[in-house]
Amino acid sequence: MQQFDMYINGEAVTSGKVFDVINPATGSVFAQVQEGDISHVDSAVAAARAAFPAWSRTSDDERKALCHALASALEENMPELMELVTKESGKPMAGLNGVGSGMEVGGSIAWTQYTAELQLPIDIIQDDDEARIEVHRKPLGVVASITPWNWPLMISIWHVIPALRSGNTVIMKPSPYTPTATIRFVELASKILPAGVINIITGEGDVGSALSGHTDVNKIVFTGSTPTGKRIMQSASGNLKRLTLELGGNDAGIVLPDVSVSEVAEKLFWACFHNNGQTCAALKRLYVHESQYEEMCEAIASLAKKVVVGNGLEPGVELGPVQNIEQLKIVEALATSAKEDGGRFLAGGQRIDREGFFFEPTVVADLCDGHRLVDEEPFGPILPIIKYTDVDEVIATANQNDRGLGGSIWSNDTEKAMELAQRLECGSAWVNDHGAIQPNAPFGGVKQSGIGVEFGLYGLEEYTSIQTLKVSK
Ligand code: NAD
Repeated sequence: MQQFDMYINGEAVTSGKVFDVINPATGSVFAQVQEGDISHVDSAVAAARAAFPAWSRTSDDERKALCHALASALEENMPELMELVTKESGKPMAGLNGVGSGMEVGGSIAWTQYTAELQLPIDIIQDDDEARIEVHRKPLGVVASITPWNWPLMISIWHVIPALRSGNTVIMKPSPYTPTATIRFVELASKILPAGVINIITGEGDVGSALSGHTDVNKIVFTGSTPTGKRIMQSASGNLKRLTLELGGNDAGIVLPDVSVSEVAEKLFWACFHNNGQTCAALKRLYVHESQYEEMCEAIASLAKKVVVGNGLEPGVELGPVQNIEQLKIVEALATSAKEDGGRFLAGGQRIDREGFFFEPTVVADLCDGHRLVDEEPFGPILPIIKYTDVDEVIATANQNDRGLGGSIWSNDTEKAMELAQRLECGSAWVNDHGAIQPNAPFGGVKQSGIGVEFGLYGLEEYTSIQTLKVSK
């Protein structure tokens, strides 16, 4: 049984109490992690606060070099980190279309390297006989990162590297379902960064809640569900913490009738089912024109029937299990409601009879907006395909959802697709692709999918406040 400690002020810390981490492919415990409490929150915040003045004054070059050193540490330990990610999250080592632990750790390295190279310029907005006015970007202080279970290491990296790069100190609180790869990263990082600059505490929601209410934390960067995001926003108000909230999505993909079904079906399938649909910006509502509806339904369903589901540690596996039993129950409940709503099941529909938390890749036709499987984010391997007749109507229907993370238009007419994509109410709109995120392009949600963006210079700025410096002449 692997054991994992917390890291506070550069030291391994135990609490005297542990909780189990389950491998969802087997349903068995594979690791134990410390159960932190409020006292650990307090000591981690105190360590990060004490480290902040010196860290924020390190030179830009020094912080850039240390971020590159973190990327190298990830790279040197890639096989071990990949195995931890697969054991805790269930995602296969390689995975459907290359979306697996290799992508998670590889992406973590790429994002770290890219962010290390970013620089926040000083903006000179006036320099004349009267005055010189410069706009500087300053770090906020102590940043707390709270992460979910679907891309545990990569999302931690997305939070922490820009925070460090811009001169903040950090405290991380990973999901109790998937803490191990993130803890191992912090163990490695603690040997590279000065004491107190990076800290990690583990525990349940009460630890996250104590962090978001702590008056010595200056910013919360949170990725997770919309209800938890709302709770965090409330408890962050005490000292007006800055917030980046990356919340749930229910992304629509709209296929125009000019596409060739055989050309796009596989790409659409991948956009919906990679990581078992457990990706915030996976395609979760697929709208297809009536002229191609049956053909598309059949093509997607036949891919769902063929995909190799199993324990992600075994070679050739494309999809793993649902990450946890609670999420599996949500997926099952949505499948039941889809049956009650008259959904036509073209593939899958139930749990797979084996150990672990497996659900068949499931495709459901003949549902429409207003049905639960269409309106709610399933965050699992179940896809509704919805028939439409009029493109203006379908855009309006897609926009009725209260989430607005991503959306896509699929068409051979790029100009028309771009025009329609801009009418989608979402933070990222793709043409002939979906969920295609990258380190240089801002990513974030509108409506109840979140506040703020991550990635690139836009994302880096969110870890800073503006100081206007005016020199009168
Ligand atoms: P969750 O909201 O249940 O938990 C996320 C984290 O918040 C965990 O670490 C949890 O321990 C912590 N937490 C729970 N209660 C808390 C509280 N009161 N205060 C502070 N922290 C608390 O989410 P999840 O089930 O782990 O993740 C799935 C959800 O995340 C889905 O809705 C998905 O769409 C969303 N997600 C969004 C993005 C994005 O970029 N927008 C990315 C990945 C996942």
